[in-house]
Amino acid sequence: MENDKKECLVCKRDDQTIPLIQITYRDTVLWICPEHMPILIHNTDKLMAMLENPSS
Ligand SMILES: [Zn+2]
Repeated sequence: MENDKKECLVCKRDDQTIPLIQITYRDTVLWICPEHMPILIHNTDKLMAMLENPSS
């Protein structure tokens, strides 16, 4: 998982395309776009599963 690139962890759009919000999880910096903020807010379990298993 690339963590140095600024891109939404869900849709992979970068900050040239859409504003991104920085979050951190277990000392890893992650980015998420406003469109996917509801996942962050309402589906935290799903988000954490995605972070722990990026390929799934
Ligand atoms: Zn997104």
